Amino acid sequence: MIKIPIFDSSAEVASINEEVMASIQDVLFSGQFILGPQVKELEKEIAEYLGVRYAFGVNSGTDALVIGLRAAGVGNGDQVITTPFTFFATSEAIHQVGAEPVFVDIDPITFNIDVKQVEKAITAQTKAIIPVHLFGHASDMSAIELVAKRYGLKIIEDVAQGFGGEFQGKKLGSIGDVGCFSFFPTKNLGTYGDGGLLTTNDEATARLIRMLRAHGSEKKYHNEMFGYNSRLDEMHAAILRVKLPKLDKWNEMRRRIAARYQRELSDLQAVIVPTEQEGVMHVYHQFTIRVLGGHRDSLKQFLAEQGVGSMVYYPVPLHRLPVYHDMEGTFPESEQAAEEVLSLPMWPLMSSEIQSIVIKAIQDYFLK
Ligand SMILES: *Cc1c(COP(=O)(O)O)cnc(C)c1O
Repeated sequence: MIKIPIFDSSAEVASINEEVMASIQDVLFSGQFILGPQVKELEKEIAEYLGVRYAFGVNSGTDALVIGLRAAGVGNGDQVITTPFTFFATSEAIHQVGAEPVFVDIDPITFNIDVKQVEKAITAQTKAIIPVHLFGHASDMSAIELVAKRYGLKIIEDVAQGFGGEFQGKKLGSIGDVGCFSFFPTKNLGTYGDGGLLTTNDEATARLIRMLRAHGSEKKYHNEMFGYNSRLDEMHAAILRVKLPKLDKWNEMRRRIAARYQRELSDLQAVIVPTEQEGVMHVYHQFTIRVLGGHRDSLKQFLAEQGVGSMVYYPVPLHRLPVYHDMEGTFPESEQAAEEVLSLPMWPLMSSEIQSIVIKAIQDYFLK
């Protein structure tokens, strides 16, 4: 029986292997492994690609969020508004800087924070908002910018799943005060290990980020604050420099695969396929359907029996995690999404034969 994973990097690895190996060798023989020319060039290339003034490589997307929050001035006693329907790192980072997350429920169509509900969550302690561009679809950044401006909040974009995505012609991560990216291997722009990146257009924020990633020092051995050891390795920067020029093509391939899923699954009554809101360029980090009528888990099981992988992102909304056992409040849209979502196999170089098997297996489940 054929086994189809939810994500398969092997064709992509093969397609760039020679170039990657050559650039890794260049790094090895250069003798420079930390904050050398590869990182510098990558930061320049990404800043240009995104249309931002500054970009800084760090250890991971999680570190990018922690450093981004601190650089935006978030600290002890502050509150940060975000979505409970995201990966745990988003809210974990808020605690790591001594602040507290305040969750606001999601919009059921996009799975992103419902900006209409943000205003009533704002208190005197609210300092910032973290919109997460979940699954590669932009949050409503114009509405978020309006509310942030009115209440003097900083915007820290969690772009871990949205590299290359756009909102009204602007690249995600170029709109808020700070953008936070992840190079985790499965992300749209991933390396062969951990890595992350921050962006900003503000010079003072850039200076803070530069210091925070290097033990709170701009000048070596002149530490001005307590920071982190959080740097992107030269080796990863070299790999990412091979991949960056191919990102648009790979995102376009994801979009084409998504369009076929949308065409061929849309007449199933119990399935809602994801769509792209006006003004958004979706990069389909995940292709996440809703399965109605309580069929989600049995469909997932049926697919597994046919050798087709799928995943539930995310089975537990953050406020229901053990770590938040004493948190009050319910977020019904997030809870319902957690029971209905199913992410289907998605990677840029997925063959049409493989996608046919996935689609047929889903159709078979509903016909049986
Ligand atoms: C992957 C991810 C992160 C964390 O990135 P790492 O590089 O794994 O630390 C943060 N937020 C979201 C939404 C993510 O998907």
